[in-house]
Amino acid sequence: MTDHTHADTLRTPIVAVLGHVDHGKTSLLDKIRGSAVSEGEAGAITQHIGATDIPLSTISGMAGELIDPDDFDLPGLLFIDTPGHHSFSTLRARGGALADIAVLVVDVNDGFQPQTEEAIDILRRTGTPFVVAANKVDTTPGWNPQEGEPIQRSMEAQSERAKSMLDENLYEIIGQLSDAGFSADLYWRVQDFQKNIGVVPLSALTGEGVPDLLTVLMGLSQRFMKEEMAIDVAGPGEGTVLEVKDERGFGATIDTVVYDGVIRNGDTIVVGGQNEPIVTEIRALLQPRPLAEIRTEKQFEKVAEVGAAAGVKIAAPDLDKAMAGAPVRVVRDRSVDEVVEEVKAELAEIEVDTADNGVVVKADTLGSLEAMANALREAEVPILRAEVGDIAPRDIAVAETANQDEHKAILGFNVDLLQNAESDLENADVKLFKNEVIYQLVEDYERYVEEKQRAQQ
Ligand code: GDP
Repeated sequence: MTDHTHADTLRTPIVAVLGHVDHGKTSLLDKIRGSAVSEGEAGAITQHIGATDIPLSTISGMAGELIDPDDFDLPGLLFIDTPGHHSFSTLRARGGALADIAVLVVDVNDGFQPQTEEAIDILRRTGTPFVVAANKVDTTPGWNPQEGEPIQRSMEAQSERAKSMLDENLYEIIGQLSDAGFSADLYWRVQDFQKNIGVVPLSALTGEGVPDLLTVLMGLSQRFMKEEMAIDVAGPGEGTVLEVKDERGFGATIDTVVYDGVIRNGDTIVVGGQNEPIVTEIRALLQPRPLAEIRTEKQFEKVAEVGAAAGVKIAAPDLDKAMAGAPVRVVRDRSVDEVVEEVKAELAEIEVDTADNGVVVKADTLGSLEAMANALREAEVPILRAEVGDIAPRDIAVAETANQDEHKAILGFNVDLLQNAESDLENADVKLFKNEVIYQLVEDYERYVEEKQRAQQ
């Protein structure tokens, strides 16, 4: 049992879902949301901007005998809605990852794949505790669904043949984790989830094993949040911008995950901006209406305050130059200047070296811009200008000023070419590269340079 005498308040842990494409990240998030909604009365889920909150009462309703809610001080789990290691590694909080813990989804038939390896590297580098969801157990030949049963019992109820096939696949994954330097085991054999990675066999399709996963996540985060997180839940709010979006009636707004403290309507905030920190006053804090009402005309509900951890849309003047991935800080008990300096210092940590000559780089978040800059440095490609945001006419004009032909190029990571820049691009001697995978973008550019050099010889 937990010691309830201490006064620490633990905030909801932020959970990210990672894994190889098609291994079931989206399905798992959908299943968690769907099962939580059908749990109904027990607390239901709260929708957020960019994240879904599953309260402890709902988790314990789903997990039944697996969980004793009295064992937990945590209010629940907040899942970041966008899966994938791109969003994981580019969303930060105070230099670390925004997510506190992670679920690594691995298709039980497919085992480790390139993006699984990449995700593991990122989790290792950031020191993020994680659990492995060994997904798609229902595809085991002869699988006999046992909905509502804990997965261990489900597995015992299968035919000998199905059991041995599944075991073989699961031990393959455990072996691959071990090759990657992590000692791992099926979750019911793990005593200390910080020393050993728990593997939860499950099906995002039937839902078997999903309550087990939530239980393991609760256990893992309880320890982690107690030991690692010094959080002042009542202090001035701190968050990270997920996205800058124009919203009818509100102008430019920022979708933000608040990871510490409280943000209130009317607060003065400092937000990382494209040229300098933006100081502004909150006009409205918006959250989606409950699911049933979502089709009514007004999609958002105004709220007076939001406490960590939560997703919220912030409407305020001057947010059009805000950057995805940048910090958001409430000014309270301190001077504006002090907070501006803090935001500047945090932005300065994100290093992008530019030169007098080189390519133009555009990316969707600050973190991805930094990742692009690192990849280009390794490939020895100089950067003339690097910015967060879609590709605008100005970027094309800047790229055209490059002295060397091979540098008259724009590399866009996870961004679009703005409509008003289309004709500029057609008329300019500038080559545009766009991709959602960093190394492919760099490879495409390198191949282009090689071809250009070969043609000149
Ligand atoms: P993502 O790319 O990792 O987000 O993967 P998706 O969630 O889009 O899933 C990829 C495909 O696998 C889809 O066709 C899903 O329906 C299917 N899928 C996901 N989870 C399961 C599962 O547990 N069982 C089965 N049979 N299919 C699944």
